[in-house]
Amino acid sequence: MLSIHDLRVVGSGEKKNVIFDVVVSSDVREHEEQAVKHKIISEIKKVHPGYNPVIIVDRHYV
Ligand SMILES: [Zn+2]
Repeated sequence: MLSIHDLRVVGSGEKKNVIFDVVVSSDVREHEEQAVKHKIISEIKKVHPGYNPVIIVDRHYV
C-alpha cells in the first residue's frame, strides 16, 4: 500500500506536471524505489497521456 500526499498539478490543458510525494519505508532499496516510481508513472500515463508525473520519494526514517 502506497501512501501519497502533497499532490499538486502545475500547468494547464494537456501539458500538466502532476507532482506528489510517495512515502516508502526505509527498508525499500534504491532499485525497488525506481521500480515503484516507474509503475506509478506508467499507470498515470495510461489514464492521462499528456500528464508528466513528478514523484518525490519520502523515506520513513524510524
Ligand atoms: Zn512529503
